[in-house]
Amino acid sequence: MADTVQEYKCPNCGAQLRFHPKKQGFVCEYCDSFFTQEECKAANEQMQQQAKEDAPRDEEFAEGSRLYSCPSCGAELITDENTAATECYYCHDPVVLKGRLSGEYRPSRVIPFKLTRSDAEGIFKDWCKKRRFLPKSFLSESQLLHMAGVYVPFWVANCNIHGQMTAVCKKTRSWTAGGYQYTEVQEFDVYRDAALLFEGIPADGASKIEDELMEAIEPFDYREATDFEMSYLSGFLSDKYDMNKSQVFPRVRNRAVNGSDQLLRSTMTGYSSIRVTQSDMQVLQTKWEYMLLPVWFMTFQYQGKQYAFAINGQTGKQAGTPPLDTGKLLGVCALITVACALVGFLGGLLL
Ligand SMILES: [Zn+2]
Ligand SMILES: [Zn+2]
Repeated sequence: MADTVQEYKCPNCGAQLRFHPKKQGFVCEYCDSFFTQEECKAANEQMQQQAKEDAPRDEEFAEGSRLYSCPSCGAELITDENTAATECYYCHDPVVLKGRLSGEYRPSRVIPFKLTRSDAEGIFKDWCKKRRFLPKSFLSESQLLHMAGVYVPFWVANCNIHGQMTAVCKKTRSWTAGGYQYTEVQEFDVYRDAALLFEGIPADGASKIEDELMEAIEPFDYREATDFEMSYLSGFLSDKYDMNKSQVFPRVRNRAVNGSDQLLRSTMTGYSSIRVTQSDMQVLQTKWEYMLLPVWFMTFQYQGKQYAFAINGQTGKQAGTPPLDTGKLLGVCALITVACALVGFLGGLLL
């Protein structure tokens, strides 16, 4: 590899960069970022320094963690040495102990659970009360036992963005004088050049959990996040992430770029029309925090389909798709049909 002169990691996503001879800089094939040699050097020195500072805590995590795996669905679950994980929270099959995890999986921060199991059960029962046609087994006490407190692994990103936008904006003014209608149109070339910082963009790193389900229970209040300690895992499970920073970066970048674009558009006020002719939002650097966020989680297998229900363990916000008992539903449909037929019949009689 003649074109790799120095091994640098991407300041946005952590993947290895490649030197690009034509651009005289470094490109990341995973996230499409470009960096000059100076930018790479500074960012990589920072990353190495951080890794050195983290080493003792990584070691402690590797000592105290226990990794379980589920032979039927392949889930990998983490807990501490004092908690015995028995069942998989996705498929409810028994899990087996695999050993310890390496220090690279140590979370940096955690938002501790605020809702107890009985709080979560109360929210679940209230949610069920508002829904008809739920299968009986979904509401049973034994189903409630499958509810698990899970710390979901999240990549939380702070993105530095350089945003440039050009637009053609118009101001229109009309008035009448001496029997004539006048219209004045003023046209402006508007230009924005801004350094933006987007903080706290979350993306979960567990491919088994639906992204939509996690986005539906946002937001989490990061002000309550604290440095990770092994003891937070006691009595709870966590998921081992299977999507790394470079895999979730496209999702994060989309949110950051769209947010920046909207922000710059919102600064163009006082015009009667705005036509953006160019918008270029470049993510210069991303700082990541690997965080565990608290979720009460329950899955339910019904007629060959998996249903998932989640409650934000900090705020109590819930989301999920309820399973429908087709038998009950068909019963009601049949009743409605009978009622309609009766009305039709009566109608016929009355005429
Ligand atoms: Zn990258
Ligand atoms: Zn499983």
